[in-house]
Amino acid sequence: MKILVTNDDGIYAPGMWVLAKELRKVAEVIVVAPDREQSGVGTSLTLHHPLRVWEMPLMEPGIPAYCLDGTPADAVIVGLGTLVEENGIGLVVSGINEGSNLGNDVLISGTVGAALQGYFRGIPSVAVSVAAVENVIFDVAAQLARLLVHHFIANTLPKAILLNVNVPNAPLKEIKGVEITHLARRTFVELIKEGHDGRRKYYWIDRGKPNMDFEEGTDMWAIANHRISVTPLHADLTNNATMPALEGLGVGLLQGLKDRSQEGDA
Ligand code: MN
Repeated sequence: MKILVTNDDGIYAPGMWVLAKELRKVAEVIVVAPDREQSGVGTSLTLHHPLRVWEMPLMEPGIPAYCLDGTPADAVIVGLGTLVEENGIGLVVSGINEGSNLGNDVLISGTVGAALQGYFRGIPSVAVSVAAVENVIFDVAAQLARLLVHHFIANTLPKAILLNVNVPNAPLKEIKGVEITHLARRTFVELIKEGHDGRRKYYWIDRGKPNMDFEEGTDMWAIANHRISVTPLHADLTNNATMPALEGLGVGLLQGLKDRSQEGDA
């Protein structure tokens, strides 16, 4: 098994290296990561300038590493497309992120955004985050990722899978369980800070207070109850529950367009 490890906290982020070293014990590992922090860029791609890739001096024995001046998603795309031979990678692992990625966070998370690119290419992918931004304990998350790798090697998990893993920031003895969860309805209401740089006004988007959802079975609930959360994700955002309420809308809209066009012709 060859694993592509990436992150959104940048090539020097300690969490990624704890992860890479742990996975190296059971598999081949190649690191391809952004050259700087890219938290919050989701799965966006760099399309307006060319990307440069640098081979890093060996940062850990046995782990080749590259960085690029792009996003986490770019790192996965370029890594899978050029830096490893075709069909070489059996798993993409993104993290270990400093800070949780729960609920609607998955839509802006660079950690999840990178994993999505593996998933889009039919490669099992895992995003791993620890729910703290200070004094982060990476060890439990790294061990869990290694156990998941065993499952992928043994083929006991589906191939078409994207797992979003969040780990409480606690030593193992304080962790009360591992829950398979669904996404909470945690959303953030962004605040806008206004300022002036001496020449022009600026606006700075600041993540405000989240609207919390601690419903049992959600990822938020798991973390709040000192449990590891494992959420299987897919990329189908279709709101199936709304479909019936939209029945007939298409016919009506088409008629409306025809009516307007006739008015225009008249
Ligand atoms: Mn991050």
